[in-house]
Amino acid sequence: MDYSRIKGIEALGDLAGKRVFVRADFNVPLQGTRITSDSRITAALPTIQLLLQKGARVILASHLGRPEGKGFEAEYSLAPVARRLSELLGFEVTLQSDCVGEQVRKGVLDVANGRATLLENLRFHKAENKGAEAFGRELASLAEVYVNDAFGTCHRADASMTWPARLLPCAAGLLVAQEVKALATVLTNPKRPCLAVLGGAKISDKIPLVNNLLSRVNEICIGGGMAYTFLKAQGHKIGKSLCDNEKLDECKAMLLKARQNDVTIHLPKDHVIAHGMDDETAHIDRGDIPDDFTTFDIGGKTALAFSNVILAAKTILFNGPMGVFEKERFSNGTRIVVNAIAEATQNGAFSVVGGGDSAAAAEHFHADKKMSHVSTGGGASLTLLQGEAMPALEALVGGI
Ligand code: AMP
Repeated sequence: MDYSRIKGIEALGDLAGKRVFVRADFNVPLQGTRITSDSRITAALPTIQLLLQKGARVILASHLGRPEGKGFEAEYSLAPVARRLSELLGFEVTLQSDCVGEQVRKGVLDVANGRATLLENLRFHKAENKGAEAFGRELASLAEVYVNDAFGTCHRADASMTWPARLLPCAAGLLVAQEVKALATVLTNPKRPCLAVLGGAKISDKIPLVNNLLSRVNEICIGGGMAYTFLKAQGHKIGKSLCDNEKLDECKAMLLKARQNDVTIHLPKDHVIAHGMDDETAHIDRGDIPDDFTTFDIGGKTALAFSNVILAAKTILFNGPMGVFEKERFSNGTRIVVNAIAEATQNGAFSVVGGGDSAAAAEHFHADKKMSHVSTGGGASLTLLQGEAMPALEALVGGI
């Protein structure tokens, strides 16, 4: 799918007085009615402000949490989001009592030019998750134009993510446009050498990613828990380290494909091992790992070797920590690798950090601002990087 065909907001022409449906991702963490991090709201602000400046009448919509889908549930109301949006935008963002229906239809007609209203949680209707056409048509009928700025949900075919794009003139919001551009830069025509630094715990989650990257990148550094299934597949002893024995054959096949495609795979050569996560006597082991030890981080030599590969790369994708970085004594490998990616970026390389744990790791070592792009959508960025279907983006490509 050629996502470069997705239009930006500028392609929508004059928006003054037009009702613009903005699908945002306001799925914020809440403690009661208190928002504990508003970063998802602030991430959507540039798009909202741009539309307001253009004199549009902005209709905001989002899901929040996992309500049952049988109507209003106070616990999942977007009321805290409406309050925070009002503070950030400097005017009252009204909250509609629902996201469809006659009352909402009247409510959105009341929105003045350059002002915004927020629909209540889309997931109060089961039809949202089911991608139901009738519900999607109802949502679309509230507006004249559709903008998708909910990158974190773009791998889903939810009704609000697809149907309005098929029915109305549509565009990607600034956040979605930026995400797609950054991730597509890694996958299509990257500056070379192009490198992926992969880690994290679960090999099964990463197999489709490695497979897709094997026909795109020049080198892959593999650390974290996922490295040990590869090392066992090569015949190494890995002690009690994480291993998915059912994936050994797939790892062997990927190592073979790498050789065939001339992709160099770098695996850890030394390791930080311990008897358990809470064992404070962790130490470095150079060769095969003794039977009663578990690996929790890559060793210093490996971290240095990975850094050298990173500093020579022109495009770098970072997805998954090198060890249990949340614990100080197992954080060294991830810190060294993250800092090397930041340094390479300062020297002109283009770096993309996948969402979720990788973004948390970059933030943990205060390197997130030094990267070219930190993805806001863990599942969505992984799906795109795996080369799998992105229904919401496909709807934007094929949209009006
Ligand atoms: P994932 O969600 O698969 O990207 O995994 C991220 C998690 O993997 C992080 O929370 C790390 O603590 C964990 N992790 C990384 N390396 C290891 C390892 N060698 N053993 C156990 N857990 C690990």
